[in-house]
Amino acid sequence: MIGQPYSQDIIIGGYGSGRNRNREPNYFAPNFLDPWERDRVRGFYQVMEQEDLIDIHYYRSNENVSINIYAVKQSEVLFVERTLDLLPSGHLRWLKERKPEGIIFANSAGRGSSERYTGGLNPGYDDRSTPFFDESEGIIITYGSLWRYQNLGISPTLIHEIGHIMTHAGKISYRYFSERDRVTLSNTRVSRNPGSLEALCNAYMYFICYASSTPAIRLFGSRPLILERSRQTREALRGCPGFSSRMLSSSEMTRFRER
Ligand SMILES: [Zn+2]
Repeated sequence: MIGQPYSQDIIIGGYGSGRNRNREPNYFAPNFLDPWERDRVRGFYQVMEQEDLIDIHYYRSNENVSINIYAVKQSEVLFVERTLDLLPSGHLRWLKERKPEGIIFANSAGRGSSERYTGGLNPGYDDRSTPFFDESEGIIITYGSLWRYQNLGISPTLIHEIGHIMTHAGKISYRYFSERDRVTLSNTRVSRNPGSLEALCNAYMYFICYASSTPAIRLFGSRPLILERSRQTREALRGCPGFSSRMLSSSEMTRFRER
């Protein structure tokens, strides 16, 4: 732990349902007796008063891994730690190298018309509202994204955002996918981010989950009929430098094998 917990009002976003995601989220709001509220740009949300937040160090002894995490809800520290536990040490060291500030939890991510109460972001800018943290050197994760997947006990959004870091210097890329899968995946538009790497980062996220020893997380990572979660996608990712013996220990190599 870095410091003492502190209380703050926070906003928890909700993912809209329906084709255009403009209908009420189809899961409970944090204050489940009250309806979700809605902001025209940022989406559905509820305000939580005086939540306990804390800044922590995520640390792996003997593996030269230490990540700073800011403003995480105290009740969700375990989710965040369990999520990072799924990642190979080499990936976390790469995260540290590319994003030395670490991870910050926030009400929203993005700016202007692309600001949302959900999802996460690798921002290209420093947000002046947090003078202690340079967002351009870190990752932002919304409280809403953690709330969405709380039944899974981990944060897929955080893994997806680390996936973006893994695309740096080609640690993961479409290079090892078949031509057909590369075209399909790079044309998949999955979130507010229209970039061609979204499906690749999702594939990374599902592969990390697939290697989990927790059945529910593993199941989340594997759907044979969905390309992003399929065996052939895992096979392509294993070909990437990020999953070679240069970045994985031998026990991690074993963990990421097909089972
Ligand atoms: Zn993304």
